[in-house]
Amino acid sequence: MLLQLPNPWGLDLWLLKSNETAPHLGGNKFHKLRGYLESAKRRSTGTLITMAGAHSNHLRAFAALSRREQLRAHAIIRGDELRDYTRHSAELRFALDQGVDLSFVSRAAYRELREAVSTADRAALVPDAPWREAVFVPEGGLGAEGVTGVKDWAREASGFEHVFIACATGTTCAGFLQAAHENQKICGVAVLENAAAIERAIHLLAPEHESRFELLNDYVFSGFASTTDELKVIAAEYSTLWQITIDTTYMARAVKAVRDRAMSGKHKGRALLVYTYNE
Ligand SMILES: *Cc1c(COP(=O)(O)O)cnc(C)c1O
Repeated sequence: MLLQLPNPWGLDLWLLKSNETAPHLGGNKFHKLRGYLESAKRRSTGTLITMAGAHSNHLRAFAALSRREQLRAHAIIRGDELRDYTRHSAELRFALDQGVDLSFVSRAAYRELREAVSTADRAALVPDAPWREAVFVPEGGLGAEGVTGVKDWAREASGFEHVFIACATGTTCAGFLQAAHENQKICGVAVLENAAAIERAIHLLAPEHESRFELLNDYVFSGFASTTDELKVIAAEYSTLWQITIDTTYMARAVKAVRDRAMSGKHKGRALLVYTYNE
């Protein structure tokens, strides 16, 4: 769904929102997860396993979608100290409430799990998850299935030469790249210091369209989820003006990137901002 965004920068600015509006599924995570859901259906299994940080939007969307689709869902959580339920985040409480089974692992084991390439390696690290029948969803939905899910949604961006997307794993950008035509530029706004990992993800997941990708790296500030007074002001101002949630971790950075490019004269005319946030 495309919405026009009034702005003081002289841009013909539009927002691409998801057509999926169920709670916690309105952003990009749903689209990435959809690819894994399809994969589960093809393999006739009703079980998904993922790995996630305790505060992640990925965990929230994973829990909401699993519940809606009546899947058996298991999430491996970073930080074994979080076994103590008094330390549970809102996202962990939500996941439990939606019926997701949880395993907690140390940060070291979690890092190893990220690098593991086979089910046997993963099962050795987390023996209590139902690996045999499950489809594994990597952290943040990073992978080919995630890209496939995003690609459908990305077709709605075809009328825009410049598309701005907040970027963490690069999976969403890769999906937009896969759907991109030759005159399109996908501008990823990095929210954490992982430029090399993003470039690698784009190279693996959308190799034929790499030249249509541009990574904007000036919006990391002091790292993931760090904030500045300026980001807070942008978040408050544009949440009110556009009547959508502009969070400081992702969306405010993308808005600032669009604004900076417009103000410096680097960008004129039409632009599309992708609404990745899932409340
Ligand atoms: C997860 C997330 C992103 C990053 O998506 P990637 O596909 O990992 O690059 C961007 N914006 C929001 C709001 C997110 O929750």
